Amino acid sequence: MPSSTIPKEALEELQDALGENNASADPGLLQVYTYMNSMFNSLFGLWWVPPVAVTLPSTVEEVQAVLKICRKHGLKAKPHSSCWVVTSLACSPDTVILDLRRMDNLIEINQHDGYAVVEPYCSAGEQQVEIMKLGLNSHVNGAGPNASNLASATSVQGSGGTSQSMSNSERNMLGVELCLPNGEEILHIGSPGTPNAGWFCGDGPGPSLKGMIRGAYGNLGGCGVFTKCGMKCYPWNNEPFHCEGSPPFFDAKPLPNYRLRIGFWPDYDSECDGLYRIGESELVDFCSRFGAGVFEEALSVTNEEYLSMVDSRLYRNTFPKGCWMFSIAAGHPEEAECRLKTLEYIVEDTNGIIIDPEDLGQDANQLSFQTAIRGCYVFKAAFMPTGSWGCFPPMAYETIDNLLKVVQPINDEIKKDLIARNAIEDDYYDNVYMSTDEHSHFGHDESPYSLDLWESKGGELDGMIRGVIDGMKSNSAFFYSPVPTEGDGLITYLKYPAKIYNMLDPDRTMDAFFMLAKGIINDIDDIDDLKNLGETA
Ligand SMILES: Cc1cc2nc3c(=O)[nH]c(=O)nc-3n(C[C@H](O)[C@H](O)[C@H](O)COP(=O)(O)OP(=O)(O)OC[C@H]3O[C@@H](n4cnc5c(N)ncnc54)[C@H](O)[C@@H]3O)c2cc1C
Repeated sequence: MPSSTIPKEALEELQDALGENNASADPGLLQVYTYMNSMFNSLFGLWWVPPVAVTLPSTVEEVQAVLKICRKHGLKAKPHSSCWVVTSLACSPDTVILDLRRMDNLIEINQHDGYAVVEPYCSAGEQQVEIMKLGLNSHVNGAGPNASNLASATSVQGSGGTSQSMSNSERNMLGVELCLPNGEEILHIGSPGTPNAGWFCGDGPGPSLKGMIRGAYGNLGGCGVFTKCGMKCYPWNNEPFHCEGSPPFFDAKPLPNYRLRIGFWPDYDSECDGLYRIGESELVDFCSRFGAGVFEEALSVTNEEYLSMVDSRLYRNTFPKGCWMFSIAAGHPEEAECRLKTLEYIVEDTNGIIIDPEDLGQDANQLSFQTAIRGCYVFKAAFMPTGSWGCFPPMAYETIDNLLKVVQPINDEIKKDLIARNAIEDDYYDNVYMSTDEHSHFGHDESPYSLDLWESKGGELDGMIRGVIDGMKSNSAFFYSPVPTEGDGLITYLKYPAKIYNMLDPDRTMDAFFMLAKGIINDIDDIDDLKNLGETA
């Protein structure tokens, strides 16, 4: 991608507004913000579009100043929080990055109404540590405690094992503060828009804007900069989680009313039956599927150790069809025992096997415990053993039946084939990661694969295309969106976010990822069209 440079006056204005040290166009620094070895790189490569400048705003006013300067000079703006997703880097030329790491406050914990108000760089783990002291807990999505809660709630996906009891991040999004792309206006969504009402609600008065700013997956930095967000908290009846020792396994102190189990089934029919019954009984707090490969990747510390685990086939033989990790966070020991007995009964009654992770050893037990409390290990697994990873589509939000019986077989076939061709790492083809939502019949799935992007053999693109085509053929939702795939359904569907984007950012200040669908956006330049949505779309 050709690199562009920032006009001298624009850089000076940024430095005047933020301080000289907080706005830079140093070529070395720009390279740091151009490289990423993470999810979705398979399509675009390791190096992204270089930004023309990087800024570190520390207040809402400074965020607005950066947006105004970008707008004035025809530059694009891209916000990022903890930067785990490639779309937080520049996606088009002439982009100024707003790295929000100086906005890291946990502003308020409202114990009575059960919410916390956070800034972009307050991590999910940091929020959890503080609220647990007050008898509250919050969902940590599968990206782990290091990621921004605000980003997950407002702008990205947000699923993980505790979605079962504490929902997905976007459903935990309460009041929101959004700096609109023009740099002039601040939009308060929900209760913060009403003076002295607090941050307890993300809806109203009037129609909800939550869906409009997020869509199914999140707008990925395309509609302004979110600077504050109220996050819903849930009761925590245990002692605060305490962890000592050193990485990668630490040493977490057991919690008195907390139980962990791993369950697995011989076939998808039994697995679906078991999961529906577990959900309907509202039994478990953490509910997530892991393939055998995740254990190898998360439990090994060196590549030699990883390879010897693969050779031993310990996990591949124990869970050839993957397993589910369950936790029970009860209010008192009797409740914990009662829920545990019911869980054991359901798994066994549906032909499954249930084990205590302690039986897999101390490291596996710590991995399960810390993953169930705060999503600690999925991301370690992702980067072992090749240093990079991706996920093959469909990547769906679907019913449990559809996930296991329609989507999973598509992923299995693609991966078996690519592994046989040595185009991706043999992480055991069924390394599918799933979680279920709100004790319901619904969940999400991802089929991760590992590869060395420095020595790519093209397998990732092959798998991506096959995943999309086979997903569409089977009418599966893909990339988490329930996309209509027949007639002109898809194009109609894409026009909605385009129209919203046109309304929020008529000057095109934001570096919107879905500008990749540029043709569609340029096609709908009349922002008044929004009011005719029903007729035109
Ligand atoms: C190994 C790994 C595992 C993952 N597992 C999961 C998972 O299980 N579940 C899940 O939901 N996600 C997962 N993710 C995706 C992602 O990391 C998470 O959704 C994460 O919570 C995003 O937070 P972040 O701070 O990293 O966001 P960033 O990467 O900083 O930003 C993500 C997007 O949101 C935009 N954005 C960020 N902050 C703002 C803001 N303040 N205002 C406007 N736009 C903003 C950015 O422009 C970018 O497009 C995973 C990622 C990795 C690398």
